[in-house]
Amino acid sequence: VSRIIPVETFDLVIFGGTGDLARRKILPALFKRFCSGQVPDGSKLIGAARSDLTTQAYRALVAEALLEFVGDIASDAETVRAFCEHVHYVSVDARGETGWSALAAELSPETVRAFYFSVGPGVYSDLARGLERHGLVGPETRIVVEKPFGHDLETAQALNRELAQHFDESQIYRIDHYLGKETVQNLMAVRFGNMLFEPLWNAQYIDHIQITVAETVGVAGRGDYYEKSGAMRDMVQNHLMQLLCLIAMEPPAQFEPDAVRDEKLKVIRALDAVQPHHIVRGQYTAADGAAAYREDVDNPRSKTESFVALKCQVNNWRWAGTPFYLRTGKRLRARDSEITVVFKDTPHSIFGPEAGRHRNELNIQLQPNEGITLNVTIKEPGPGGMRLVDVPLDMSFAEALGPKVQGSSDAYERLIMDVIRGNQTLFMRDDEVEAAWAWTDPIIHGWEARGDVPKPYDAFAHGPDDADLMMRREGREWRGLD
Ligand code: NAD
Repeated sequence: VSRIIPVETFDLVIFGGTGDLARRKILPALFKRFCSGQVPDGSKLIGAARSDLTTQAYRALVAEALLEFVGDIASDAETVRAFCEHVHYVSVDARGETGWSALAAELSPETVRAFYFSVGPGVYSDLARGLERHGLVGPETRIVVEKPFGHDLETAQALNRELAQHFDESQIYRIDHYLGKETVQNLMAVRFGNMLFEPLWNAQYIDHIQITVAETVGVAGRGDYYEKSGAMRDMVQNHLMQLLCLIAMEPPAQFEPDAVRDEKLKVIRALDAVQPHHIVRGQYTAADGAAAYREDVDNPRSKTESFVALKCQVNNWRWAGTPFYLRTGKRLRARDSEITVVFKDTPHSIFGPEAGRHRNELNIQLQPNEGITLNVTIKEPGPGGMRLVDVPLDMSFAEALGPKVQGSSDAYERLIMDVIRGNQTLFMRDDEVEAAWAWTDPIIHGWEARGDVPKPYDAFAHGPDDADLMMRREGREWRGLD
């Protein structure tokens, strides 16, 4: 079972403790860490929201959420009860004056103190101000800020300025749960822990790299938010950009927060402006029993994209000439997040044209199952002459590592514990977030200026045909979504 790194006693306040994210992700993650012995005695998990609840009522809400979302491990009532002893509730209006002194009274003076901002982005600034004004910020205080971090460069800068008035950058944890995924960190282990890959990890040997983050869900229920956001803001600016950074960055001198984040920042700053003909926007239409995007958001004229595919270029010595293709969308054929590194053809085929075209590919699967596969070319067994075939060298963790994988933690667990330990490596720095917006803003502004209308695509299919065409024109094709 996975190695447990001990943590000190801590207080974690979840602002928005009654909300969807708290119930679905944060509380289950804390419960799992509790089961692994990482919530030391004396630690408090304090839900804070506007609702007028007693601690007892909140504990009941927490127990219900655990049953709903991690019922398999929360079936033991005694363990849930023991966990709930750490749980408390304070009614606080983050934008008003009520509840702050009750919250202050719950907090221990000496321990690490983390405030998780699991409230809407409109509340972030007031909450940051409120925490300081009511004397709740000390040197061991950290804040966790959820996405979306800004709506564009200007609003992200304003939010960074606001947070900087109350907190040091070393206290601010901008969370992107993609960075907490086991395989994403494994990507760094594969790149920088092996001699095999890094010498080939450049434009000389890599034909192109593609990143797909596909979902089957639509936007029903989140329409108000999504309609103002779209796939570019909701997924590309943060998750896909972060994955691209980890794939493309130079080796940092140490695996330490600023060393890693400096290298990621350089990647974003080296990104070319995307040409309009290298980007395809899409919007799903009704199919297979699913409503159209426009129905889901109740706006028959919506021009918001639920799909983006684009080609971009990291303009530096390592990557000049190797394109990166990013694709993400909702209501696609499968829930599938993967990165594929496609290596170049061998310079000369000694086996002649009948051997066919074979290329090495490194595939990093993030969802639904995590794993890494390297395709290598070998001789097809049998008497048929020198025929070649691609076979996977499979590094899927479940098989190789067995019980260790079951013991491994999910992204939120890992990231929350990193906050408690004070490790910012997997969190985005202010300048990173701003650089990512500086790259996406002109693309979005271009669409707005041109009145661009996304291309329709059938729900539960592969996205707009134009996205496939964009690849085919360049003699390439998308991987995944089969
Ligand atoms: P939600 O609407 O379900 O919950 C919001 C919570 O904030 C509620 O507990 C509410 O009581 C509380 N709240 C609102 N105003 C408050 C105030 N003035 N003072 C104190 N508490 C207040 O929202 P959610 O889906 O849980 O999302 C929370 C944050 O996390 C948002 O910023 C969202 O963008 C982000 N996020 C959510 C998800 C998700 O899957 N739900 C995923 C990624 C990011």
